[in-house]
Amino acid sequence: MADVNYEVEQQRNLEAPGVAHNPWERRALIDLSAIRNNVRQVTELVAPAKVMAVVKADGYGHGAYRVARAALEAGVRWIGCAHVSEALALRERGIESPMLAWLHTTDTPFEDAIAADIDLGVSSLGELGCIAAAARKVETPARIHLKLDTGLGRNGATLDALDELLEQAKDYQSEGLLRVVGVFSHLAVADEPQRVETDEQLEAFDLAISKVEAAGFGLEVRHIANTPAILSRPDAHHDMVRLGLGLYGLSPFEGDEPDSFGLRPAMTLQARVANVKKVNKDQGVSYGLNYRTSEQTYLGLIPLGYADGLPRIATGAPVTIHGKDYPVRGRIAMDQCVVDLGPDIDPEHFLGATAIIFGEEGPSVTEWANAAGTINYEVVTRISPRVPRVYLEGSWGESALEEEDTNGE
Ligand SMILES: *Cc1c(COP(=O)(O)O)cnc(C)c1O
Repeated sequence: MADVNYEVEQQRNLEAPGVAHNPWERRALIDLSAIRNNVRQVTELVAPAKVMAVVKADGYGHGAYRVARAALEAGVRWIGCAHVSEALALRERGIESPMLAWLHTTDTPFEDAIAADIDLGVSSLGELGCIAAAARKVETPARIHLKLDTGLGRNGATLDALDELLEQAKDYQSEGLLRVVGVFSHLAVADEPQRVETDEQLEAFDLAISKVEAAGFGLEVRHIANTPAILSRPDAHHDMVRLGLGLYGLSPFEGDEPDSFGLRPAMTLQARVANVKKVNKDQGVSYGLNYRTSEQTYLGLIPLGYADGLPRIATGAPVTIHGKDYPVRGRIAMDQCVVDLGPDIDPEHFLGATAIIFGEEGPSVTEWANAAGTINYEVVTRISPRVPRVYLEGSWGESALEEEDTNGE
């Protein structure tokens, strides 16, 4: 994939022997055909349950708008966001599907949300009151999904608080201020399928559903499954699943590769090798001089650092150049990091070559996550706005590439 073909004007300072003259220095390639593939895999797996594509945090770093569009094209029915502001931004760009946002504060623009036909998760009486007041103002009933804490201990109403919440919701509903159309919850340990807490949460969820139904609300959707539960707990699928990580082609399970579920990673992070130079044995590398060369060797400079979202702690993580993995040596700096290419390379062949930080043809996101003591979710979501996202339509090689500017299409 070092040589994705597309027509471009040459850029002088990137010319290097043996390297295609493409005008890019660093980029996150987002393969929308992978997104579509992942949607189709999951749609098939969970049918007849519907799929909500979760595109919070700018689509886990992939670009919320483009991912939402691709997911809808591939058959997703719903779009999920954490913040109302994220959902409003998608509405403004023309996404018209049913949409849910669930993480609010007292300053959340509920009136705008209701006016834009965004469904709202409700975790407390206080939230319900704010939303009812907003609905009164805009003279439109809010569409509500009650969010229940079935064991996660985070957002959501506890089952003890449910009765009171239902009573208040009933009052508002009879006033015409809102309609309870959904009930949902979130799982705490579904990425560890052997743990019993998931069974306990599913039981609590069933109990909550029956209470909501007994209170007379006509529910459209009941949903609790995130990616790990989608892949490992068919009994958790209910009417709809909320697909986040799997949409982007990553696996939530330790030791299970995405392709064992038919998923393809959508993001490839690349940069040009910016410099290649010969150094002597015992040369210290990067701040702190924590790595020292063991022999005369060539160092390759990768122009990506922690300001681009590489975890600073991930020294030792692999970078693929010309099909071979080289560990990052020394500290990762704000803008750059270094690999040791060894003594036997042709520097001309490496200068300007494509370094793959992670992606389908390089290291996995999980390898970077392991080196950083974190999870693949965090690695992709933190790739910073300094890295251009470039969208790939269709399969590798025959692709039309399209660059997203940060505000427009
Ligand atoms: C982020 C999120 C999801 C998606 O979880 P994945 O594990 O990425 O699939 C689903 N539901 C809620 C409430 C979330 O916050």
